[in-house]
Amino acid sequence: MKKILIGTHNIGKFREISFLLNKKIKKISPNSLKIKSPKETGNTFLANAKLKAKYFSKYVNFPVISDDSGLCIKALNGNPGIYSARLAKRHGSFFKAMKRILEKMKNKKNRSAVFICSLSYISEKKKSYSVVGKIKGTISKKIIGKRGFGYDPIFIPDKYLVTFGQMPKLKKILIDHRYIAFQKLKKKIKIL
Ligand code: IMP
Repeated sequence: MKKILIGTHNIGKFREISFLLNKKIKKISPNSLKIKSPKETGNTFLANAKLKAKYFSKYVNFPVISDDSGLCIKALNGNPGIYSARLAKRHGSFFKAMKRILEKMKNKKNRSAVFICSLSYISEKKKSYSVVGKIKGTISKKIIGKRGFGYDPIFIPDKYLVTFGQMPKLKKILIDHRYIAFQKLKKKIKIL
């Protein structure tokens, strides 16, 4: 059976990426191999996704996939962006980080935002491929919905009236930024 290391310690992401991958591929987590995460020193999603894939790929002789993703809010100059995970860590939880974002957005007319996902794949022959997926939307006025993870309860994707956090899990997974990036990657790497 083919194997792939999904280079993330984020359970929500691990589940989404596992779901999007071919069922015939065995999904391995860094935890199961006792591999820690690298420092995210890049200035872009793409740089961080590449850096993570390269780092995890050093530990295994089979393919690796890593993503770097986050929420970019126009009225907050694109923040939290690549600092999305770090913002939640700084505030102690995603709930607190979302509350802080909503406070900052209180008087903002423009609530547009975009979720971005860069995916990097490194084959067993150490050849690398990268893609980017984006989904546009708006920031809700309140934290709504208990499904999903991270900032899902404050993001309303365009053409929808509910937040990612309110959507059935399967629905969200099949429209989001990670899914869009995956479709691009699957065109390049057929086995996925
Ligand atoms: P990183 O890519 O490990 O730096 O983490 C990205 C962070 O962005 C996650 O911890 C979440 O906070 C947020 N994020 C990325 N994708 C999603 C998503 O699909 N839903 C909600 N939050 C997300």
